Amino acid sequence: MVNEFAQPLLQWAEVYGRRDLPWQKDRDPYHIWVSEVMLQQTRVDTVIPYFQKFMARFPDICTLSIASLDEVLAYWSGLGYYARARNLHRAASVLCNEQGGSLPMDRLVLETLPGIGRSTAAAILSLAYDLPEPILDGNVKRVLSRYYEIEGWSGSGSVLRQLWQCAEKSMPVSSCGAYTQAIMDLGASLCTRSKPQCEHCPLMAECMAQIKGRTDELPSPRPSKKLPLRKNYMAILHHPKESMVLLQRRAENGIWGGLWSFPEFEGEQENGEWLQLIEDKQLPNPELWNDIIHTFTHFRLQITPLYFELDHQLEIEHKGVEWVALNRLHEHGQPAPVKKLMKQLQQEKNV
Ligand code: SF4
Repeated sequence: MVNEFAQPLLQWAEVYGRRDLPWQKDRDPYHIWVSEVMLQQTRVDTVIPYFQKFMARFPDICTLSIASLDEVLAYWSGLGYYARARNLHRAASVLCNEQGGSLPMDRLVLETLPGIGRSTAAAILSLAYDLPEPILDGNVKRVLSRYYEIEGWSGSGSVLRQLWQCAEKSMPVSSCGAYTQAIMDLGASLCTRSKPQCEHCPLMAECMAQIKGRTDELPSPRPSKKLPLRKNYMAILHHPKESMVLLQRRAENGIWGGLWSFPEFEGEQENGEWLQLIEDKQLPNPELWNDIIHTFTHFRLQITPLYFELDHQLEIEHKGVEWVALNRLHEHGQPAPVKKLMKQLQQEKNV
């Protein structure tokens, strides 16, 4: 049965919905899972080339599970939120060892896997298996908050509960995959964060935010909180003759876990370890490059890059440290600010 919310949406999607995305071609649950994870916090246009390269290298769950984490992170490099890639890799290993390399058709079992919450599990089940499991990603939250006039920030438990109830009652019992795709498409195309195009929307006649002129107010924003600022230094140790830089693999827990970064230290008082090393090795005075600000969910990081030009490869016995040739950087997944500094290095030093 199709309800009064889903009916106009499905009709609209038949004409305006997207059917050409690479993960829509075959309804393969693995493709849908990877695309859903990549699409968290990331736009469709950005995801497409990453998805295609990822699938060319890791065409099935077991291939992904036996690849090294380093390689998976290198394929993720630039997409951000790297915990997504680490969880994907861990979940692939569980699925390969315990489920014969396929995704189970049970939401509660899917939710036991690393990185799969209710909405991602529901997206896999509805899009791949046509099951009536509602999703609640950012786009869907926005549509439902406006249509049903739900007040309050969706990060609060009671608001989230109301949104799940709305998602459940809006979900039809048939055409489930088409419905899920339709509501995601509506949120991405017409019911956008600013200036929604209500005049073209199939839900316009019943949408409370549109009727009451409240599309600017809903969904309610996150209560504003100033993010704390942390500071650190990154030491860019460059050996131009051999075209190499010194990188350090970060611990797997914590930010940028498992990615390669320049040696970092927090400051003269905080962490003398690297500073001491630099002093002991009698490095030349560094060039001070412009600061970079990188924003995380809970804080902002101010990075001060220190560039050292060396005439030899320093022997540094430090955990996870490696001299890497500039033409092999693609094998080492790097967080966005490090990629930016690499670009600056290549431009300014002509390497
Ligand atoms: S009518 Fe406007 S606010 Fe309501 S769902 Fe459609 S686009 Fe969004």
